[in-house]
Amino acid sequence: MKPFIDPDEIWNYLKNVKPDKVRVREVIGSALDKKRLSLEETAILINADDPELTEEIKEGARQLKEKIYGERIVLFAPLYVGDLCINNCSYCGFRKDNKDTKRITLSREELIAETKALTEQGHKRLILVYGEHPRYSPEFIADTVKIVYGVRHNNGEIRRININAAPFDIQGFRTIKDSGIGTFQIFQETYHENAYMNVHRGGIKRNYEWRLTALDRAQEAGVDDVGIGALFGLYDWRFEVMGLVRHVNHFEAVYGVGPHTISFPRIQNAMSLDIDKTFLVDDESFVRLVAILRLAVPYTGLILTAREPAHIRDQVLRFGVSQIDGGTNIELGGYSRKKEGEQDLSMEQFRINDTRSLNEIMDELLSKGYIPSFCTACYRLGRTGEHFMEFSVPGFIKRYCSPNALLTLAEYLEDNAPESTKHKGYKLIQEKVTELSEKQNVNGLLKKLEKIKEGKRDLYF
Ligand code: SAM
Ligand code: SF4
Repeated sequence: MKPFIDPDEIWNYLKNVKPDKVRVREVIGSALDKKRLSLEETAILINADDPELTEEIKEGARQLKEKIYGERIVLFAPLYVGDLCINNCSYCGFRKDNKDTKRITLSREELIAETKALTEQGHKRLILVYGEHPRYSPEFIADTVKIVYGVRHNNGEIRRININAAPFDIQGFRTIKDSGIGTFQIFQETYHENAYMNVHRGGIKRNYEWRLTALDRAQEAGVDDVGIGALFGLYDWRFEVMGLVRHVNHFEAVYGVGPHTISFPRIQNAMSLDIDKTFLVDDESFVRLVAILRLAVPYTGLILTAREPAHIRDQVLRFGVSQIDGGTNIELGGYSRKKEGEQDLSMEQFRINDTRSLNEIMDELLSKGYIPSFCTACYRLGRTGEHFMEFSVPGFIKRYCSPNALLTLAEYLEDNAPESTKHKGYKLIQEKVTELSEKQNVNGLLKKLEKIKEGKRDLYF
C-alpha cells in the first residue's frame, strides 16, 4: 500500500498557508455546513493563531457541537487486562525495560471481579486495554471479551466492549471481531516517522508502517468500526492534527466511511518516562487543537479521557467531545480493590488526573444540562456505522439517540445513583421529554420509562 502520510506535503501546507481573516471565516463556515476539511483548510485553522481568530474557531466548534451532536455525552470506562509488553515505548510505564513495573495479567476470576465492580458503578460500555505480548494473542483477547460479556451482576451487565491493543494480522483481527467487539482502537502515537523511531526503541512497535496500516488490515478483516489517535507531546502538535485528518481522509477515500473516533491523549507522567520535552503541549494549545479537530472532521466522534484534569475536561467538552470515561482506575485490578488515595505507578501505565467517581461526573454533567448516555442500541441491533447515520439519516438523533440516552440514564438513576442525582436526572428527563414532544409523539418513550421504573431493563429504540 502506498504510504498515505507524506511529511513534506504536511509541512508544505503548514509553512505556506496564510490564515487571512476572510479565508479563516470561510473555512469555519464550511465546517458548519458539515463538510470535512481538506488538509489545506485544516492548516489555515492551525495557522490562525491570533486571539481573535482563535476565539472564532472555538466559537465555531461550539456551534458545530450544538448543531450536530446536541447535549449527549457517552460514558465508558477503561479496563486494563494485562501489562506484559515486549516493546520499549519511552513514554510508557509498561515498557519492557521498566523492571519496577509489577507484571500482572488478570485471571478469569479477577476479570469477573473487575467487571462486577464496574457494573456496580453503572457502566455499560468498556474499553479493554492490553500490552503487546505473545500471551495476549487474538484468541486470548477474544476469551477475555467473552468473559466480560458473560458477567451478570444485579441489574448490571456490559453491553459493548471496545478494544485498545496491539496491531494484528488480518486473521487475528477476524478472531477478535468474532467475539463481538465494538470499536478497535489503535493510536499511531506520532505520524512523524523520525519522531516515531526515536521513542519506539524496541519490539514490534518499531515498525512504523505495520502500525500505520493496522486499521486497514482490521477493515480487511471486517472490523469496520475503528478508532485512531495520536499521543500528543511526541512531535509538533500541528503536524499530528494534520496526520489525523489525513488518516481520516484515507479511510473515507478507501472504505467510504471514516473512523468512528479520534483520541488525542497528552503524555502524562509514567514510571521511567524518558522523553524529550520539546513538544509537550500546553493547555492553551490543547484546547485549540481540540476545537480545530472538531471543525476539521465533523463526522468523527472525539474521545477525551481522565488523563486530563477536570477543569480541562470541562473546557473541551463544549467543543464537541462525544465520549468521556468516568470513575476511571487504571491500576491493574484497581476497580475491585477500591483503594483510596495515591495512585500506584508501578501498576499503571501513566498517571491520570481526573479521579472523580462516575457518579460525581454524572452529577456534574446533569447540572450542566448534558445528557449522559450509556446507549449501545445501534451496535446491538447491527446498525453499524451509527456515527454516520447520526448525521446522514434525517431525524436519526431525535428518533433513536436522544430517547435511548434518556432510557439508559433512567436505568442508571434507578440502579446506581444516590437520591440527589436521581432527582436531578429525572428533572432533566422530564425537560427533554417535553422538548421532544413538541416535535413528535413520545408515548413510546414514556411507556418504556415507566417500565424501567417497574424494573425492566435494556429497553431501546
Ligand atoms: N499496548 C498497546 C499499544 O501500544 O498499542 C495498547 C495501547 S496502550 C496500553 C494505550 C495508549 O496509551 C497508547 O497507545 C498510548 O497512546 C497511550 N499512552 C502510553 N503511555 C502514555 C503516557 N505516559 N501518557 C499518556 N498516554 C500514554
Ligand atoms: Fe507496550 Fe503499548 Fe506501553 Fe508501548 S504503549 S510499552 S506497546 S503497552
